Formats: sequence, C-alpha cells, structure tokens
Amino acid sequence: MRHFVDGAFVDSTETFANLSPIDGRELSRVCEADVAVVENAVRAAKQAQKGPWGKLGASERADWLHKIADGIEARFDDFVAAEVADTGRPINQARTLDIARGIANFRTFADLVRTSGGEFFETSGAEGSEYINYVTRKPLGVVGIISPWNLPLLLFTWKVAPALAMGNCVVAKPSEETPTSATLLAEVMRDINLPAGVFNLIHGHGADAAGEWLTRNRDIDAITFTGESKTGSAIMKAVADGVKNVSFELGGKNAAVVFADADFDAAVDGVMRSSFTNAGQVCLCSERVYVERPIFERFVAALKAKTETLKLGSPYEEGTTTGPLISKGHRDKVLSYFRLAVEEGATVVTGGGVPTFGNACDDGAFVQPTIWTGLADTARTVTEEIFGPVCHIAPFDGEDEVVERVNNSAYGLAASVWTSHLARGHRVARQIETGIVWVNAWFVRDLRTPFGGAKLSGFGREGGRHSMDFYSELTNVCVKVI
Ligand code: NAD
Repeated sequence: MRHFVDGAFVDSTETFANLSPIDGRELSRVCEADVAVVENAVRAAKQAQKGPWGKLGASERADWLHKIADGIEARFDDFVAAEVADTGRPINQARTLDIARGIANFRTFADLVRTSGGEFFETSGAEGSEYINYVTRKPLGVVGIISPWNLPLLLFTWKVAPALAMGNCVVAKPSEETPTSATLLAEVMRDINLPAGVFNLIHGHGADAAGEWLTRNRDIDAITFTGESKTGSAIMKAVADGVKNVSFELGGKNAAVVFADADFDAAVDGVMRSSFTNAGQVCLCSERVYVERPIFERFVAALKAKTETLKLGSPYEEGTTTGPLISKGHRDKVLSYFRLAVEEGATVVTGGGVPTFGNACDDGAFVQPTIWTGLADTARTVTEEIFGPVCHIAPFDGEDEVVERVNNSAYGLAASVWTSHLARGHRVARQIETGIVWVNAWFVRDLRTPFGGAKLSGFGREGGRHSMDFYSELTNVCVKVI
C-alpha cells in the first residue's frame, strides 16, 4: 500500500504490516509516511488548489464527483473484497452499507453542490438608502482528513466528497488498521485523471506520526477528524496555535430506550441491530439499553435468545452474521471491559468471552456478543465507550427518569427510542442531548441531514448544507443600490 501524492503513487522506506482480523495473517505491507511525505502531500494540495481546480465552477466539480462515484462502482467487487479483508465484516454488509455509501457520498454532494442556492437579503439603511447582501462561498484551501477503521471507505469518503465538492484539495489519512479501500480510491482518482494534487493519500500511524504531522502542518487550512474523543482532544491542541477550523465526529456511549408500549418484536430486532451490527463497532451502536420495568424480564430473555442466533466466523463462510473486532489490540481492550463488568457486579446474560472455532479463526480477533444486567449507572462499563458487541440492559420506571439517565453521560452522539405513543416519541426525542435521535428506527441516514455529536462526541455538524458550510469560507457582499 503506497501513498498517492501529486498524482502518483510513492513509496516510503518504513513499512508496517496490515494484519487480518479474521485469522491474523499478513495481508499487505503498508508504507509509513515520514515528515517529508506529509509535507510533499500538503505542498501538492496547496499547489493544485491555486491552479485550475480552485477556479472550477460548481457544476464542473460535480461532474468530477460523479466520475469518482462511477469509478468506485466500476470496481465495486474490488472495494468489497478490500473492506471485507481489512475488517472481517460480512460481505453483504460491505456491499449494501460500506461501498454503497461510499458511492452515495460522492453522488449526494455532487447533486447538492450543483443545485444549492445562496443567501440573499435586502436591507434598509438611513435616509432611504437600500442595500443588497449576498453570500459567496470559497474553498477553505487544503483540508486534512483523518479517519478511523470502523467504517473505512464510508467515513473516509464522507469527508473527501464534500471537501472536493466545495473546491478544496485534500490530504487524507485512513486508519493504519484499514489502508486498502483508501488505496483503491486513489487508484480510481488516478484512472479518471483527477488533476494531480487534488486528492493526496498518506498512510501511517497517528500520534508522533503521519496523523499528528498532518495536523501540525502550517499549510493545512482545516482538519476534519472522525475517531476517539481523546484523539480529538490531542488534535485540538495541535491545531490551536494555527487557529484552524476543525470538525470532530468522536466517540459515543449511546442509549436505546424501550417503553412498555413499544412494538415488542420491532424493539428487540432494533436493539439487537443497534448493539451488535459490525460487532458493535459503529459509533452509533447502543451500549446502554433502558427498558421500562413491566417488560424488562421478557425483553432481556428475548434479546438473549436473538443474540444467541448470531453466527460468528469468517465472512467467507455461508451464513456468517458477525465478524471479528478490528484487531487483537482492540480485543484486549474489549476483554478488559468484560472482566471489569464482572468486577463491577454485572450479571452476564450471554457471552462474556472469546469463541472457539477449531479453524483459522481461532487466530482472529473475535469476541462473543455480550449482554449484561445489574450494573449501576455509574459503573465504568456503563459510562465508558467500549466499542464492541456489548450492551447493558437496565430497567426504568418513568419518562422523566429515563431522560435524565440517558442524558447523564459525558457523550452525546446518538439515541434510539422505541414507543408506539406518537407524542411520547417526539417529546422524549427533543429532550435527549445527542446529535441524532431515532424513534422506532436505528442507523437510517439521509445524507442531507445534520450529523454529529454533543459533549465528548464532538462538535460541528456534517451532512448536506452543514458539510457545505464547514468545507467553505463564506463572504458576505453588501452593495448599496439606492
Ligand atoms: P482513533 O482516534 O484511535 O484513530 C482515528 C484516526 O486518528 C486514525 O487514522 C489514527 O491514525 C489517527 N490518530 C490517532 N492519534 C492521532 C493524533 N495524535 N493526531 C492525529 N491523528 C491521530 O479512533 P479509531 O480507534 O480508529 O476509531 C474508533 C473511534 O472512532 C471510536 O471512539 C468511535 O466512536 C469513533 N467514531 C466516531 C464516529 C462519529 O461519527 N462520531 C464515527 C466512527 C467512529
């Protein structure tokens, strides 16, 4: 896996191994960017931004985004294979979610940038004078993009697409755990002859490595980052001296709330998906589940039964629903929480350990989908993000009580509410302090809507015009007409 800088693939002398989470074997060697590679990439982006790319009209930029989307679609199976190998996720998920959304990200922002209008105001001044105000958008310049491993292409393109749509050039770093789909994207950029320097890809690690050097580079105009809250905090410090724009999509400790009046089967299905999709490695997954007391026991039993039908294993085996965690390092972290929950007094309803397969998957990074009950709201396992296939289920007795318990979190990313009471669904959703609340749904995303989090889950919103706002600099022009 090589870097893509100024329109060409380039090597580094240092490399690191990309290991399969399915069976631990080495999938590829990945170049580790040194300071010079990062600087060259930023320089190439700056140069390209000053060139014809920075002067393209919105419609021409939209045409390029459609070409990129078509290029991904033409190599759809290669992208699916890359994502499955790097992450171990089920093939069907990679097809219907990851790669499909990667394509949709480019098409959505192409259409948005082509069709969006601007702001315009008429203003009355002193002594009968009249003015018009209108707003123009300019690119920010060079945007640094740093993304995580949990939905590699989806989250990478969620930032690359709007950044290019608004006329910026980018230097983008995917997670060191999942370098392959971003490298394929660079091949697409090369094959469609995107002007050199508009899209630059650097591989490498974060702290004291490519990620940090990118955030500290003076010629970067903005940083957009998705990942852990503590990394967000480190990046904030790194960009502070330069007062750079930042957009952060960070961690979560999301809640699902099930009222006794909910459609029971839909709620069980919904919570099973929201807790265990992608082995719990979606930032929107629910790790805290609150169930109204009259249906608590029945709900726990039903979720346990459903969870035990999940089939763990290699994505290449028929019927697999649940893959491994991303790495053995991440598994160590999740297993430490499994031990801590027991120390904190949890009842383990199901799971709690490492599955055995009797095949190569025993060298992978699997853990059992796990449900706990009996923990205090203050337990570390109920307050800290674990990012694995795990949830704690607690009973509650009233609407106000559950809203307070949901909001009593350092995070504020997402929540889901299950109820058949229409007004209650709206009422509770409005009181929850998160960037997104689903009612009788989970993980439904309209890409025009704002997406982001409150508190430790980040700030700024991306999606639709919110992305357009972040990735552009607005200038208000005020003209005296009378
Ligand atoms: P991470 O923060 O460890 O790494 C993310 C990226 O940041 C990687 O590319 C990494 O190399 C880089 N990085 C690490 N330290 C850095 C530093 N000091 N300077 C610059 N770059 C640095 O996160 P992860 O483990 O890859 O991803 C999982 C986390 O991401 C979870 O907390 C999850 O909730 C969060 N997440 C949030 C959202 C969202 O939309 N809010 C979406 C997906 C994942």
